[in-house]
Amino acid sequence: MKDFRQRFLIESCDVRGQYIKLDKAWQDACARIEYPESVSQVLGEAFVAAGLLAATIKFDGKLTLQVRGPGNIHILVVQVTNDGNLRGLARWQAIPPGNSLTELFGQEAQLTIAIEATRGAEPYQGIVALEGESLSDAIRQYFESSEQLKTHLQFAVSEHSASGLLLQALPADAKTLDDEDGFTRAVALAESFSDDEMLNKDVDRLLHLAYHQEVVRVFDAESVAFQCSCSRERIDGMLQGIGLKEVNDILEEQKIIEVTCEFCDETYRYDRVDADALFSATPGYEASSDVPDVGH
Ligand SMILES: [Zn+2]
Repeated sequence: MKDFRQRFLIESCDVRGQYIKLDKAWQDACARIEYPESVSQVLGEAFVAAGLLAATIKFDGKLTLQVRGPGNIHILVVQVTNDGNLRGLARWQAIPPGNSLTELFGQEAQLTIAIEATRGAEPYQGIVALEGESLSDAIRQYFESSEQLKTHLQFAVSEHSASGLLLQALPADAKTLDDEDGFTRAVALAESFSDDEMLNKDVDRLLHLAYHQEVVRVFDAESVAFQCSCSRERIDGMLQGIGLKEVNDILEEQKIIEVTCEFCDETYRYDRVDADALFSATPGYEASSDVPDVGH
């Protein structure tokens, strides 16, 4: 079964929902860095949170969820594209002793949600103080202040998978019932899920388990995956940005330039020949004299 996101509607509660399940994407995200357990737990939560956020906000481009603070974990970042490609990482200076937000990120950490559109639209950035017991609390507060909709989030993370559930009261103009209790009821039923059920039960079974007395409509699943957006072209652009002189200086010293992507560990290498090719279209450029003969 591929990693996926699934939208559903609990019609009898006027609640919409999203469920996300990451197996391979989560394993790929952890394959490159050996995270301490408390760091991996919150990074897994951030992965599913970003996947859920991206499913509820309309955008065409890249959504970035980032936490920065003065604490043990100084940065945590997860990016997701509108078509469900995720990448992310966390950096820590000391292993957090526990899982509270203060133990993880220190006092006065900030959660930023940013959206960069591929074309046209203005970039968006929302910053909120990282408050509450957990990352799900902080993101719930973000939702409630930005969209003014009652929201519930719950996450489950293990070494091999991460899953998340989002429930949101429908906006007033989309409500079909006069049932103030619907959202509360939907949340109470979801809260009965154990981590094991969240991680291992098939989504249809999970929804049936909680909502068999409600009217639920399930939409088609969308696939999601760990995929990095780095590329040779982007690194080319970065080196062109640094400029010919700087690039030549580095090559003088090191003979080869190596750029490693922090997210996926892919290494891009440039020697003198590559640099010449890269800058050959630049006005005023003269090929370096020590270009080895590469033959014809
Ligand atoms: Zn990469």
